[in-house]
Amino acid sequence: MRILITGGAGFIGSNLVRHVNAVHPEAEVRVLDDLSTGNLANLEGTDVAFTEGSILDFELLSSVVDGVDSVVHLAALGSVPRSVAAPIPSHHANATGTLHVLEASRLAGVPHVVVASSSSVYGSNTKLPKSEFDWTRPMSPYAVSKHATEGYTIAYNHSYGMKTLAFRFFNVFGPRQAADHVYAAVIPKFVEAALDGKPLIVHGDGLQSRDFTYVETVCTALMAAVERQVSDTHPVNLAFGTSTPLLKVVELMQEHLGFELAVEHVEPRVGDVRASQSDGVRIRELFPEVQPTDFATALTRTIDWY
Ligand code: NAD
Repeated sequence: MRILITGGAGFIGSNLVRHVNAVHPEAEVRVLDDLSTGNLANLEGTDVAFTEGSILDFELLSSVVDGVDSVVHLAALGSVPRSVAAPIPSHHANATGTLHVLEASRLAGVPHVVVASSSSVYGSNTKLPKSEFDWTRPMSPYAVSKHATEGYTIAYNHSYGMKTLAFRFFNVFGPRQAADHVYAAVIPKFVEAALDGKPLIVHGDGLQSRDFTYVETVCTALMAAVERQVSDTHPVNLAFGTSTPLLKVVELMQEHLGFELAVEHVEPRVGDVRASQSDGVRIRELFPEVQPTDFATALTRTIDWY
């Protein structure tokens, strides 16, 4: 088995490389990453053929995609606030970049492509929990770029008969998630603050909730998709229908660390959704073999890693 993981030096990608090395030691794993937000240290000790470069470099992309059985396309500029500050680089990396990955794969005869979309595509649709059949109305440049990611992926399925699958990731967390940049996600920020003895910054009242998904669960689903070359012309929410408020995250962290954590409430973030939760129906139907790790266990594993 030969797999190309774009964005493989990032958080989810580097966990996926480790997962593939563990469950399919015979597989050849290639990574293409421009290290814009990823880090080579994430791949230390892995068995991988690493190429530094951008998915926007079509010639380079075409050379690394050649001969693979599946592409797992994770390369992107993540974060809603980053896209609000700089929408054009987000568009290039996420929308144009995905088109490049699909087109290079098609020209090279790659049979199967899995891509990472995002729950942010639901945008102003406040219905809960979210089904993939609910309407989408992206509210940020990032969400639009992810809508384009899944739109192109599904269009390649229809237009060229390529086997493709678009997963909508929700809030993924776990080891190797960057904590040290301005656009870091909430769990690594909380863990870093707690371990540094600093207050945990909560935007708003802390009752906003998320369907947090452990990165190992995400990797298991991605690998199941690769193994069975799962293809679908409708996206799949990669989350299992849990709803955890931020203050519950703080409480579980306190329990595990054994000391009280200071919380500092600051103004709510512009554009933050109040609640995000999948109904977890399609993922269970299409991937019955994926058993999600429960949130409390995953959180303790994450804290212990940092
Ligand atoms: P990450 O920033 O850690 O990883 C993304 C990787 O892509 C980085 O290593 C970065 O260097 C690389 N990259 C960016 N632009 C590139 C380009 N033009 N060419 C080559 N490589 C490039 O982010 P992550 O959390 O691991 O996210 C992986 C994917 O999952 C992304 O597509 C993201 O949009 C999506 N996603 C993540 C979450 C989450 O909660 N982490 C939620 C929804 C969707």
